[in-house]
Amino acid sequence: MQPAAFHDAWDHGVRTAAFEWLRQQVDRHGSVLPRQTLAAGFEHQGARVPLVGPQGIFKPRLLELPLSITTVHDGPYDDRLDDDGVLSYRYRGADPNHRDNVGLRLCMQRRVPLVYLYGVAKGRYLATWPVFIVGDRPESLTFSVQVDDPGLAGAPDHRVSEQDEGRRRYLTIAARRRLHQAGFRERVLVAYREQCAVCRLRHRQLLESAHIVPDTEPRGDPIVPNGLALCRLHHTAYDRLLIGIRPDCVVEVRHEILEEIDGPMLVHGLQEAHLARLELPRSARERPDPERLAWRYRRFLGAA
Ligand SMILES: [Zn+2]
Repeated sequence: MQPAAFHDAWDHGVRTAAFEWLRQQVDRHGSVLPRQTLAAGFEHQGARVPLVGPQGIFKPRLLELPLSITTVHDGPYDDRLDDDGVLSYRYRGADPNHRDNVGLRLCMQRRVPLVYLYGVAKGRYLATWPVFIVGDRPESLTFSVQVDDPGLAGAPDHRVSEQDEGRRRYLTIAARRRLHQAGFRERVLVAYREQCAVCRLRHRQLLESAHIVPDTEPRGDPIVPNGLALCRLHHTAYDRLLIGIRPDCVVEVRHEILEEIDGPMLVHGLQEAHLARLELPRSARERPDPERLAWRYRRFLGAA
């Protein structure tokens, strides 16, 4: 057996390489990563390091402790994402002493950082790192997880100060919001077959999920019937009330804009959208809710 110091240095090296690799993948693919990319992983000193496996708690062969934990979205308000600055992560099975659960407990005791993968749609994950296991709750068969800043997470033997606590809570709440937003975006883009509902532009990097009723309002739920897939131009135009969408899913462009004279971008981007019919999801239950459309359309009329 190797001395403990060797293992710690090796473990630290693999995790640092995994975090750096993830950062590069996010630069390349955007924040939501395909499962194939995570499953293929990267090469570290001649060995392959995948980031996911068949189970939620994943330990690559060359490490002694788990490297990632994965969870999948179900429902618009996922209660596994707690509100008080920690995320809950369920044990594997009901046995607290299953080796995967023991592995996470050791990560907690040794303050070893992990990657948290949140499945926002089939085969697509939002990665958050580093995360730490900060609590073990056998009564509910869950661990408590917190997000930290990659630059400030400190060494494994670093004592967690009150300042660290505050920072982690803040970053965990921000991460939770990001997970919800990414989930909503994915579900909306899939429902609209990855095209803008107004102009049919099909370019994932330029598409966004717009709320019909904004999320600051009581009915602004992150659900597909309150969403529209829009390109950046039409999303901004919709939010700024330059275009409106009637409850029968027909687009209207503000009068002043129809009368303006400018280059081709104005003509093709905005003026031609007037009285266009939205490109809608195939499934009736994913189509925009007419009452929410009516609420928003009244605001558009009010702004004219
Ligand atoms: Zn568009």
